[in-house]
Amino acid sequence: MQRKRVIIVGGGYAGVQALKVLAHSDLCDVVLIDQHPYHYLQTEAYELIANECSMTRVTIDLLALCLSFGDHVSYIKDTIRTIDFESNHIIGQTSGHSYDYLLICTGSRTAYSNATEGLREYSHGVKTLPSALAFKQQFEQRLYQRMESEGGCCSEPFNVVIGGGGLSGVEIAAEMAHYIRVFHQDNTLTCDNIHIFLIIPHENVLEGMESYLITQATKRLLKLGVKIINHSRITSVEEHGLILNGTESICFDFMIFTGGIVASTLTGELKVEKNKKSQLIVDKFLRIPSHDCVFAAGDIAELLETTGTLLPSTAQSAEQSGVHAAHNILALIQGKEMKASDIQMRGMMIALGGNYASVSLLGWIRVSGILGHLIKTVIMRSYRYMLHLQCKKGINKMSNPKSHCGF
Ligand SMILES: Cc1cc2nc3c(=O)[nH]c(=O)nc-3n(C[C@H](O)[C@H](O)[C@H](O)COP(=O)(O)OP(=O)(O)OC[C@H]3O[C@@H](n4cnc5c(N)ncnc54)[C@H](O)[C@@H]3O)c2cc1C
Repeated sequence: MQRKRVIIVGGGYAGVQALKVLAHSDLCDVVLIDQHPYHYLQTEAYELIANECSMTRVTIDLLALCLSFGDHVSYIKDTIRTIDFESNHIIGQTSGHSYDYLLICTGSRTAYSNATEGLREYSHGVKTLPSALAFKQQFEQRLYQRMESEGGCCSEPFNVVIGGGGLSGVEIAAEMAHYIRVFHQDNTLTCDNIHIFLIIPHENVLEGMESYLITQATKRLLKLGVKIINHSRITSVEEHGLILNGTESICFDFMIFTGGIVASTLTGELKVEKNKKSQLIVDKFLRIPSHDCVFAAGDIAELLETTGTLLPSTAQSAEQSGVHAAHNILALIQGKEMKASDIQMRGMMIALGGNYASVSLLGWIRVSGILGHLIKTVIMRSYRYMLHLQCKKGINKMSNPKSHCGF
């Protein structure tokens, strides 16, 4: 049988898991295209911004990863602009690429509402590695400038505002509150006038998640001194202040916005069915309706449980959908029946600052505190460790000794 050319666009959680499945098949040549040469471990971003780890710990080298599988797998660094579904051709910033089968995994980006003036301009994000790094560096710089100008004592309050009470907002608020605590304890300077505000539109943080996680996260955030402002919407933002619900104002030194996601910009160019978040509508096989050879997985797609309930956009649904789409591509190549997707939420793990996490797994394991942190750490590290081991095989094949794999 002639080998087919399968292109995966996007080397995030969905793309990398799909790559692992396809690369082990002798039915296809696989090309992974990503705008960055690394897979960014967003789920560990909170550790990066709280100075718990370096940049290399949250990245996996995509070139090394692809090389590790053999000559039939390659990596191309390019930003895909659009796709011509009629001629099976994708158009990148630097080149064009033809495919027999295509898997789109370009993820999502922060949803900045145009209605909220100044939000994009004056807030920071953590959705991409450059934004997380910029945030980390600028935050420390601001804190330092503040201490310097106060003669070693922050007599004026230093306010950090986080907009959005979902998973990333809660993890960042908790990690920063913990970081600031440690900063204060370790520091000989007196700088305890730092406040973290978490602005959420609903009654509780983690809206839609199970009550155990909501209760545990709320308790921990309050214990860390985070001020939760609920039922509030940010109506406008200026350089050092914002307006809540059109009336109340809050001054801030630093602002982070994590309030929701929309699909990556690529979908804007595609003339296919999308939802309100610009996510691609896929059928039960994770295929774009009316385009037989094109699949989508991860945050870019509207993913459903078998019951028809909308799945939250998470790394675990991205990974499962990537694997599932890859298996369906292999089934199509072999002329076999595809399987309907059966993505399941196996649980949730929420980092809540330092050695503390709340974990709910498989519907019956519910743990918070150091044990929760240990469970989360083992699961996260094993994901990274397995990819790192795979990358090492690729590094050995590389003639360029400078390339390396993050670990
Ligand atoms: C701070 C934070 C904490 C989180 N914590 C958790 C958690 O604890 N648990 C959990 O399950 N989920 C968590 N998530 C959500 C999780 O990270 C996402 O759901 C997951 O990354 C989605 O995977 P993906 O493969 O669809 O997209 P991504 O991982 O975003 O990957 C998309 C890839 O596509 C590439 N790309 C995009 N556009 C183009 C283009 N035009 N051309 C070429 N390449 C392109 C990008 O460079 C990127 O490599 C968190 C997210 C954040 C931001």
